[in-house]
Amino acid sequence: MSTTFEVGASPLVLRGGRVLTDAGLVDAELRCERGVITELAASVDHAGAMVLDAGGAVVGPGLVDLHTHLREPGGEEAETVETGARAGALGGYSAVVAMPNTTPAIDSAAVVAQVLLLGASAPIDVAVAGAITVGRAGAVLAPMAEMAALGVSIFTDDGTGVQDAGLMLRAMQYARGLGVTLAEHCEDESLAGAGCMNAGSLASRLGLPGRSGLSEEVMVSRDLALAEASGCRLHLLHLSTARSLELCLAAKRRGVDVTFEVTPHHLHLAEDLCASYDPVFKVHPPLRSQADIDALVVALRAGEVDAVATDHAPHPPQAKDRPFDQAAPGMLGLEHAAALTWEALGAEGDGRMLFEVLSRRPARIARLTEDSARPGGQSAHGGEVRAGEDANLCVFDPAARPVVDPLALASRSQNTPYAGRTLVGAIRHTVVRGEIIVRASEAQR
Ligand SMILES: [Zn+2]
Repeated sequence: MSTTFEVGASPLVLRGGRVLTDAGLVDAELRCERGVITELAASVDHAGAMVLDAGGAVVGPGLVDLHTHLREPGGEEAETVETGARAGALGGYSAVVAMPNTTPAIDSAAVVAQVLLLGASAPIDVAVAGAITVGRAGAVLAPMAEMAALGVSIFTDDGTGVQDAGLMLRAMQYARGLGVTLAEHCEDESLAGAGCMNAGSLASRLGLPGRSGLSEEVMVSRDLALAEASGCRLHLLHLSTARSLELCLAAKRRGVDVTFEVTPHHLHLAEDLCASYDPVFKVHPPLRSQADIDALVVALRAGEVDAVATDHAPHPPQAKDRPFDQAAPGMLGLEHAAALTWEALGAEGDGRMLFEVLSRRPARIARLTEDSARPGGQSAHGGEVRAGEDANLCVFDPAARPVVDPLALASRSQNTPYAGRTLVGAIRHTVVRGEIIVRASEAQR
C-alpha cells in the first residue's frame, strides 16, 4: 500500500449500505482513516468520524474508466483535467485513464509528466495513456520506453487506429518487451472513409456517408492476428458490432492475450437516432443497429465483456453544432455511465457485475490495482471492499431516478446524448483516498 498520496483528513464512516465484499453483499458499516479502510463490521466505531448515509445503496470499489478524453493540454475550451476529473467523481470514478489525443499528443515523457502533474491536484487519480506513434500520425513509433518509465502501461493512438499493419506489428514487439498494453481504436480508414454514421439503408435514406461495421471488424481481425503472432497484450477500444464481439471472444478461447471494452452509448443508442440529423449522436465508431446492441447487451449480461468504458469525448459548441457530416465525433459519458450500465445489465442482481465491468476488471487492465506498479503517488483501485484496502469507494443507489440536465453537468461541455432521459440509478457518494469527493450527488471540490 502506498502512503505518499494525500488522504482524507478526518475519519469517515459509511453506514446503512449493502457492501460488496468477496463473500457477496453484506449489510455492514465501513470506517476509513488516513485513506485506508480500517474496519468493516455490522457496526463500527463512529468516534470522531464524519458519517455518510448509504441506506438502500450498494457500496463498492471506486469506478475506473479506461477511456476518458480530458482534452488537456490544448483542448481546454472542451474540458480540463480538473473539470473532467470532477465529472468523473460525480460518475462514481476514483480513477480515469486520460487518452493521448491532446495538442500536443501525449507522445513523450515531457507531456506524460505534464498531465500527471495536472492530475495530482485533481479530486480523483488520473492515469495516462501514451501514444503509440509520434503525434499519433501513424508513421514513427513514439518513445514508449521513456513513457513506461513514468508508469504509463497503456499505449494507443485513439481517435484513429494505427493503419499500417507492419508498424503495428513493430509496436507490439516493442510493447511486449516493455511489458505494456497496446489499445486500438479499430477502424480501417480505407473502409471508413469520410463516413459519419453506420453504413446501411438508413444512411442511404438520410443521404449521409456510411462508416461500416466492416471497417471495425477488419482491424479487429488484423490486430488479433498480430497480437497472436507477437504475444503482445492487446486491448480493443469501444467494440460496437456483433461480429467484432464474436471475433474477440473466439480469439480469447484460443488463448490470445486480449481484452475489450464497450461503451454505454453502444449499449443503449441505435443508429435510428441519427435520423434527427442532431450531431450529438455522431460518434466514432458510429451508433449501430439494434441487432448489434442486443448482441453487446447479451455479452455484458453473460460476463463476457471485460470493461464498460465511457469514451467521454467533450466538444465545445463550435465543434459540435455543425451539419452532421462536418461535426466532431464524440459524446459525453462519465457522469451517467454507472446508471446506464446498471440499466443495460437489467437493473437487477447484487451489483457484482456492475462493479466487475466498471471497476475491478478495468483496474486490472490499466494496472491500477494493489499489486501493480502505479504512477507515483496514486492509490490502488478496483480491489475488494475490506479492511486494509485503500479507501476508494463508490456508493450506487439503484432506486434513484434522476433526469439528465445538460446544463447541470460538471463537464465543461454539454454534448450529452441523454438530455431529458430518466436514469435507472445514480451515484450517491464517491470517496477517494478516504476523502468525500461527492456527497449526496454533489461535488465537494
Ligand atoms: Zn476511439
